Amino acid sequence: MLRRRINKKQIILQGISISKGIAIGKPFFLFQKKNVPNQTLSEQEVLEEIERYRGALKKSKEDLKYLQRRFIKDGAFVVADILDAHLEILQDPVITELVEKNIRKTHKNTEVVFQQVIGEYKLSIKDKFFKERIKDITDVSWRVFSHLNPIKESLEVEKNCIIIANEINPSDVFEIKNKIVSAFITDKVGYSSHVGIIARAKGIPFIAKIDINLLNNVEIENLIVDGISGIVIINPTLKNLEKYKKLKINFFKFYVELKKQIDFLTKTKDGKDIKIFSTIESLKDVDFVFKYKTEGIGLFRSEYLFFQDRKIPSEKKQFYVYKEIAKKLKNKPFIIRLFDFGGDKDFLFKEKKDFFEINPMLGCRGIRYLIKNEDLLKIQLKAILKASIHGNIKILIPFVSNLSEISFVKDKIKEVMSELKDANIPCKKVLIGMMMEVPSAAIISNIFIKEVDFCSVGTNDLMQYIMAADRANNDVNVFFDSLDYSILKLLKEIVDNSNFYGKPLILCGEMMLNPKFIELLIGLGIRNISLSARQMLEIKYLIMKINASLAEKKVKKILTFLN
Ligand code: PEP
Ligand code: MG
Repeated sequence: MLRRRINKKQIILQGISISKGIAIGKPFFLFQKKNVPNQTLSEQEVLEEIERYRGALKKSKEDLKYLQRRFIKDGAFVVADILDAHLEILQDPVITELVEKNIRKTHKNTEVVFQQVIGEYKLSIKDKFFKERIKDITDVSWRVFSHLNPIKESLEVEKNCIIIANEINPSDVFEIKNKIVSAFITDKVGYSSHVGIIARAKGIPFIAKIDINLLNNVEIENLIVDGISGIVIINPTLKNLEKYKKLKINFFKFYVELKKQIDFLTKTKDGKDIKIFSTIESLKDVDFVFKYKTEGIGLFRSEYLFFQDRKIPSEKKQFYVYKEIAKKLKNKPFIIRLFDFGGDKDFLFKEKKDFFEINPMLGCRGIRYLIKNEDLLKIQLKAILKASIHGNIKILIPFVSNLSEISFVKDKIKEVMSELKDANIPCKKVLIGMMMEVPSAAIISNIFIKEVDFCSVGTNDLMQYIMAADRANNDVNVFFDSLDYSILKLLKEIVDNSNFYGKPLILCGEMMLNPKFIELLIGLGIRNISLSARQMLEIKYLIMKINASLAEKKVKKILTFLN
């Protein structure tokens, strides 16, 4: 057995801040050995436990076989071979039979027994050649663990914990309640990833780029997550604990101060109006529009409706959500973005298990997926158009890279409208916008803008695709934290074209959240922005400190200087 080194000294680790805020709490290791429950079972429970173990094995095998089929289909034979090794490990009687035997013998739960068997199995590998296999065994045991303890269930037991994990999925963060989880620490995860977006929307502090393996031999009693400077303090000294308790209170007080400006109109120092809209992900988020007195909904990420039932919502369910939001908003704008599945929002595909892409960021995202799955598109359009009579609804097309995608949606809207008319169901004409987030469209924005009624710049994706830097990968975070001339120039062209053709433009995405960029964006002529509730007040505060005319001059100077 491996002996654990006890180390309760304070350790400070520097990562990058994904979501601001301060949390103090106990660690909760996700799918890691520190998370293993230890139970003694009765005779009857032993039989149930063996069934549970077999169930987790079965699900793990299914996962692997499915992944393998997909990799083979895509010609990734090397990966398929690795998965073969994983399957072999899962079927190795040295492991499978021994685990069952030991559950019977020790009356301990699967996690304890499985971990022990796997640990001994790893130690038994002496041959250097097979040492590589240890990584495979670790991967396999994680997979089995994740099926034994799906995240939702495991989190119900812990309160106010700080989740520590190598990686985390958007679906996991979406389901988490603030009262249960007070912060996240991960290794991977980029600032503009959807995991980051949801954590910020929920106001949960989050630090990434922390090597989780460093923590394996450290006994952690409690820890501090400083989401302002991106620091994690393990086993803090009393002095630091006190300091951060005070900081937490100050952080809260700062927000109370910010709240006082809710009633003010958002104007720059020199009086230019900036319209702030809300970006929302669910029906209940609509309340933020009234809480923060925004102009309406600038972006509804409708694909998140998927989470409630873990399947694509029916037309009836969608109609209900769209109608409720539209009614609540009265006549305020309500921009519904059509389902934007794909990229790092691959949850739909994970569930469906009939869709796999090696490179999802360059795959069947957004409108591409909807064109391939026309039924899905028509159901969504029907629900939106039926709800249209209840408010000021507009449709936004995600991930447009080709003009034909816009005409496809327009044709489908016409089709659905005529079907509704035939069935005597009332609906209204709605405005159609596009997400300007793929370079092929942004480079010739003048041509695309003419085809739509309004336009939303998706800065997360635009930056990702222009800089060829994965928004979910924090190793290339630097490309999102600095503004390349290419982006500046492109944004200026998009703003100018939208002004020239008189088509409203809304800036969406995380770019506006970076204080470094606010002045530049105002200087570029951005006048409408859509933000998540939690960041709204801080950004409003910063905008009100800016002199727009001066900012415009600065941008002009930069652009001429670089030209
Ligand atoms: C964006 O790309 O900037 C955007 C707003 O959409 P999403 O983050 O959902 O891709
Ligand atoms: Mg996008």
